Order: sequence, then C-alpha cells, then structure tokens
Amino acid sequence: MKVMKFGGSSVGSAEAIEKTAAIIRQAGETNTCAIVVSAMQGTTDSLIEAGRTAESGDDGYIEILSNISERHTDTIQRLFDNDAHTPVLDFVETTVKELENLCEGVRLVRELSTKTLDRILSFGEIVASRIVSAKLTGVGLENTWKDSRMMIRTDSNHGSATVDATETNGRIRSYFETTATKMHCLPGFIASDADGYTTTLGRGGSDYTAAIIAAAIDADILEIWTDVSGMMTADPRFVRNARQISHITYREAMELSHFGAKVIYPPTIQPVMAKGIPVMIKNTFEPDTQGTLIESESPPRAEMIRGITSIDAVTVLSLEGSGMVGIPGFSKRLFDALARASINVILITQSSSEHSICVAIEQRHAEMAKLVVDLEFEYEITAGKIEPLGVESGFSILALVGDNMKEHTGISGRMFSTLGHNGVNIHAIAQGSSERNISAIISSRDVRKAVNSLHEEFFSDGKKQINVYIAGVGTVGNRLIEQLRSQHQHLLDDMRLNLRVVGLANSKRALLAAEGVDLDIYREILAEADEMNIGELADKMIELNLRNSIFVDITASSDVVEVYPKLLERSVSVIACNKIAASSEFEKYRRLKDTAREYDANFFFETNVGAGLPVIHTLADLRRSGDRVNRIEAVLSGTLNFVFNNYDGSRPFSEVVRQAQAEGYTEPDPRLDLNGTDVARKILILAREAGYELEMDDIENTAFLPGACMDGSVDDFYAEMSRQEGHFRSLLEDAGAKGLKLKYIASLDDGRASVGLQSIGQEHNFANLSGKDNAVLFYTNRYSDQPLVIKGAGAGADVTAAGVFADIIRASRA
Ligand code: ADP
Ligand code: ASP
Ligand code: MG
Repeated sequence: MKVMKFGGSSVGSAEAIEKTAAIIRQAGETNTCAIVVSAMQGTTDSLIEAGRTAESGDDGYIEILSNISERHTDTIQRLFDNDAHTPVLDFVETTVKELENLCEGVRLVRELSTKTLDRILSFGEIVASRIVSAKLTGVGLENTWKDSRMMIRTDSNHGSATVDATETNGRIRSYFETTATKMHCLPGFIASDADGYTTTLGRGGSDYTAAIIAAAIDADILEIWTDVSGMMTADPRFVRNARQISHITYREAMELSHFGAKVIYPPTIQPVMAKGIPVMIKNTFEPDTQGTLIESESPPRAEMIRGITSIDAVTVLSLEGSGMVGIPGFSKRLFDALARASINVILITQSSSEHSICVAIEQRHAEMAKLVVDLEFEYEITAGKIEPLGVESGFSILALVGDNMKEHTGISGRMFSTLGHNGVNIHAIAQGSSERNISAIISSRDVRKAVNSLHEEFFSDGKKQINVYIAGVGTVGNRLIEQLRSQHQHLLDDMRLNLRVVGLANSKRALLAAEGVDLDIYREILAEADEMNIGELADKMIELNLRNSIFVDITASSDVVEVYPKLLERSVSVIACNKIAASSEFEKYRRLKDTAREYDANFFFETNVGAGLPVIHTLADLRRSGDRVNRIEAVLSGTLNFVFNNYDGSRPFSEVVRQAQAEGYTEPDPRLDLNGTDVARKILILAREAGYELEMDDIENTAFLPGACMDGSVDDFYAEMSRQEGHFRSLLEDAGAKGLKLKYIASLDDGRASVGLQSIGQEHNFANLSGKDNAVLFYTNRYSDQPLVIKGAGAGADVTAAGVFADIIRASRA
C-alpha cells in the first residue's frame, strides 16, 4: 500500500492535475493507493482573506469567493470533456453557495471564530480532492472519494488541532479494511472533533494527514509530491545553488522542517518514523528526478551538515533581573505562562549567570506574551527583582542541521566566523545536546546573506561568490573591469571565486545590480543609470546587504573616502586605489585600519605605492614576521621617473610632462606629481605601514618646480612650464656636467621622511631605473647590508588595475 500526497502546486492548475493523474495512474498499476490532496495553491490563503474581509463587515468577500469559484470551474472545464464535468461543477457550485452563506453570516455578526474559519478552509481541500477523484475516474481509474473528517478525530483546538491517535487509527484501519477499491482519494488538512465540527491540522497539514494514514495502515511508503525535487540543502528561493538531498534521516528532516524548510510539515515525520515507513519527496513536474528519501538511517557521507534553514518573523523575549539568580522556578513560571496562552516557544537560551533567560517565539504572539509574562511576574517586577519582559521583534532564526555534526569539532566556529566576516550580528545562540542543530537568532534583514554565506561555506564545491562595487570608471577602472571580465572563467575554475560586479559609479551616475552587471555592456548601462551620489550609493549597498562584498575606490575623490567607515562597519571590505584615505591625518588612517579589524573586513591599498608592485603587502609581511624597517629609499613616481628619463634637452620639459600625462602615468592633475605631493603621500604611507606615526607636514619636501607653476589651471601650468624651460635646462646641465643623473627620490630614515630631486652617480642603486619604473629598497634588521629590493613598472593603467585586482583576490580569500 502506498500513500501519495499531492501539494497545492501539484493540483494548482489543469496542467498540474493532468501530471498528477499520470503519476497516480502509473503507481496504481502495481499498488493500492491512498491519494491525499491539498487545496489548489493559494486557495487556503484566499479563503482566509475572504473570512477576514467578511469579519470586517466588508462584502468584498463576495468577489474573493467568486474568484476562487471561477478558478476551480475553469480548471474543471479544462480537465474534462463537456458532459463529464457536470457532477463536479455542480458540486463546486453548491459548495461555493454554502461558503457565501457562511461568510455572509460572519459579515453580519462581525465575528470569525476559529471554528467557522476551519469550516471555510475545508472547502479548498474538499473541492480539490473531488476534482482529482473525478479526473482519475475520467481516465479510467476506479477510485473512492472519502472524507478524511470521517476518519481523523482531533480535539477542538481549531486551526491547529491535536489528533486523537487511537480513535483515528481505528477508523482509518476499518475504512481501508472494509473498502475494496484499490484507489482512494482524500482531502488533506481537515479533520473533525468529537462533536463532528470541522477542524484543521495547521497550515501545511495535508502532509500530516498523509502521514497519519500511512502510519495507521502500515503503508510501504509515503510519497510527498510537490514542486521541488526533494529537500534541498537550503530554501531554493533564497539560495540559487541549493542542492538536492538524496537521503536524509527522519530526525534531520524533522529539524530542517521545524526550522523553516517548508517542503514538509514538521509533525508529518513523527507517525511515519514511529513505524519506520520511508518517506519519498518527489517533484510532480519532474517525476523522473530522484527526489529525497527520508529513513531512519542514511548512507555515510562526507558533508558535516545536511541543510540550512531559517524561520522569519521571530520575536525575542528576555526575562532579566538579579532577583532570578540562584532561585529555582523562574523559568518554569515563564514557560507555564506562555503555555497557558498557547504560545509556542521555538528556542531557549539561558546565560550561566542565570541573570537572564531568552526565549524566541513567533512574532504574532508578541503582544500576548508581554501581557501574560508581566502579569505572572507582577510582584517581582513591582519589587524591582526583575525587569518587565523585554520584547524585541524583527528577528529570524537560522539553523544548521545535520546528524554528522556531533562527530566533528569546529562547525560552530566556522558558522560564526562566516557570519562575523559578513557583518551578521548574532543576537543569541542555541545548540541542543543532540548536536543535530545549531541555531542563531539574527536580524531578519541579514537572513538572505547569512543563509547564502553559510551555504557557500558548508556546501559549495569550494566556490565563493564575491560581490564587487566599483567607484570610478576612468582609465584604471575600465582596465580593471576588462581584467575582471576576461579572467572570470579562470577565477571560477582555478580559484573557485565567482567574482561579480554588482555596482558601478562614476562622478555622475551609479547603478546597483544584485544579479551582477553585464560587463560586456557596462558603459551603456552606466550611461543610462540614475544620478546618484556616493553617500546614497553606500546606503543602498548596505541595504542590499550582499555577502562577501568589496568596495573598490578608483577615484581621486575625498567624498568617496567619507563612506569607507560605514562600509567597513558593515564588514564590506574596502580596496582603495585612491590615496587620500591612507595619506590623510594619521588618526583617520589608524581609525580606518582599526574599524576594518574590528568588523573583520579588509582595508587594502596596495596600489597607493608603486602601482601594481607588491610594496605594501611585502612591508606588512616583513613586520608580521617580526622584522623592523630601519630605512626606506625609493623612487616612487612613475611620472617623475619617466619625465627625467626622457628629458634630455632635445624637447622642452613641458612637452615631456605632456607626454607622461597622455600616456596615463600622471595623477589627473600632473602638478601633484611634479611638486612632489604624490611622492610625499607615498612615502608617508610607507612610513606609516612601517610603524611610524607621521603626518604629511612631517615630510620634508624640496621642490624643484618653480612656485609660479603651481598657480592657476592645468593649462596655465603647462604654459608656465614652457616659460621656465631655462630652469629645467640648467638642472639637467648641472647634473650632466658632473656625470650625474636626475632622480626624484623619497626616503625614510629612522622615522624622518623626505622627498626631493637628487643627482645620483652610476654606482647608485637607482641609476639604471628606466622608463616609468619604480624601485623601493627596504633596509631592515634582516636585510641590513643588502636591502630588499622591489622594482618594476610603477605606473600605468594596466599594472595599477592588476594591483587592484590582486587586492580584490586577496580580500576574497581572506
Ligand atoms: P506543497 O504545496 O506541495 O505542500 P510547499 O510550498 O508546502 O509545497 O513546499 C514546497 C516549497 O518549500 C518549495 O517550493 C520550496 O520553495 C520550499 N522550501 C523551503 N525550504 C526548502 C528546502 N530546504 N528544500 C526544498 N524546498 C524548500
Ligand atoms: N491547504 C493547506 C495550507 O495551505 C494545507 C496544505 O496545503 O498542506 O496550509
Ligand atoms: Mg506543504
């Protein structure tokens, strides 16, 4: 004997019912079958709405009922040939009439009791199961329709009634023993109490009906047919790459469904588990896909956890006070008070100081809970021994479920560090001693991000989704995007990183696309995007709340720097090509680094010095390994190096500078390079990273550019440089006369930093630096005689973009 339950979506349309009938036909060839049917998808919700509308005195219920009626009638007409549908249509018509009368009664008295609501709701299951039964008959499958209310006996707790197992099992057995048909069709969800009134088994309760029947008749198997191919490692609506679970134990399935995996109604498991009846979850729309088998044991597997689920709309109650410490009975009274008000407790934690008890309940009971608990503890509250009940809403419970967890250490560590790394704050934690479930209460706004990051941590084939926001799509930004685009597959295959650009901004426009921006046409998309400022963009990023988020600043704007703190505080990593942050006041720089550390985010700015050369990370590695940086000598300006390498007197100085700008080596305002500001910033950053607390003013800057060059616009600057050609020429000739070369050098010596133009001889380390190359020499305790040298192209869009790219990868893997 086989019990098959078809859910709302499996009977949600004529097409779905056709599929359902085909599945039943096949099963019926070899089995006696009991078919349990839910209401057509959405019907129960609409019936509730009709009832509530009537209760409010509004006759809008008529339209709601007429829509329900129309949907059913339409389905029937599609399912049957002309005359075959008459009896079912008549049945629907009579039932809808009855419903209208019921609702009209509700409207007149303006009261909707749970008892009446159960009557109203029963329509959904009764009609749907009638339709399926008629359809089966229509395709030649003889079957008996049986009203489950005649068999399933419950108490009178309408809305979520408790089954009287003895009475129910007896009735079910005697029905099946005495009815000869091989196929039976029954409505799920509904039952009746001792007085014969209709009751319901709780939302989603059709699964339970099927399990009760399966257990009573010792069925060989219970099949739950739905719209997904079994239980999945997470709710597929939340986690796109959730995986199907092929085997799962009863206990795991119970934990998963209890904590929100809707695919099976939690009470369903208990009766079948008691009898050891296997449960198969199958997809009506893909009947050949394997599905999930629920049994007492499942085959060994490598994964430690089975699934991740969450429950929304949770309220946290906290009972606190010194009067509770060491005195037994407080928790009993708390739970008794809640139980008397029929408030179900989902999760409990108590600190070992006994100073507080924290309890999670469904949000809809929040007000009632406050009322009953404060009443229970009225005396203690008045006496100041405990505080009035704390009630906070807007939470969700997140649960990691799996039998294997008890054999492994470190799972909660991984769970909480993953959440922490993503800025998900944990309000409370509970782990049962069965170690089958670790639950955490988190803010509902973080649920999607939390479930996805945990799924990635525990289930993905090592793949991690990284969400990148890029501010500044100038030369470097464009190159970066190009590199991200062309390396996407390589990153995915070789590094298991799925890097997506989810936000783009230039100085005028910004766009966010949670699904990822199409990098083939990002220019067009950005051109059409909304006007937005950086502050708004940051707020929207925070609101979007994607996991593993990285913000990349490739602007030269101080406004953009202003948003770093709030991003870091939400654990969004910041990668700055922009030098302003790291070279602003020391206090600001330090605070940003501290914030990043505090919120487990990364704040990287490798390209601030030497473009893509690994200067800052090398310095950090030296220090991390206990070395001390005593002296730094460096050529840090690709622009100045290019300019002095190319200025040989054959062309005016200003023209060489113009070429450097045209080739993209200079800052947007080339004066920042020429007057040494850019180099000073870089040595400042290196000094700070080497552990010296310096400010910009502390850097000695010997200018070689005549003061007049700094006045006016960039065009004025070029004009003034031309006028000053004599000055540049004499610098060149003076050095040449002594057989020396001009180099712009930055140095840090024992905490003192300086920048300036120097004439150096052939023997100097920097003598042979060509083109736009940079070089940095680190003299440390370990590298004392021969410095550690980093040398290579220190300017240019491609290498800079590559440096930013490397920072992104570093932040992704951290
Ligand atoms: P039915 O109407 O067939 O009873 P339900 O809507 O009650 O179907 O349950 C199926 C739905 O459960 C799926 O469509 C899916 O969105 C949701 N769901 C939530 N969590 C999970 C999970 N872990 N695995 C599979 N489905 C899940
Ligand atoms: N129709 C009911 C509900 O929507 C029962 C069920 O579908 O299992 O909750
Ligand atoms: Mg269901």
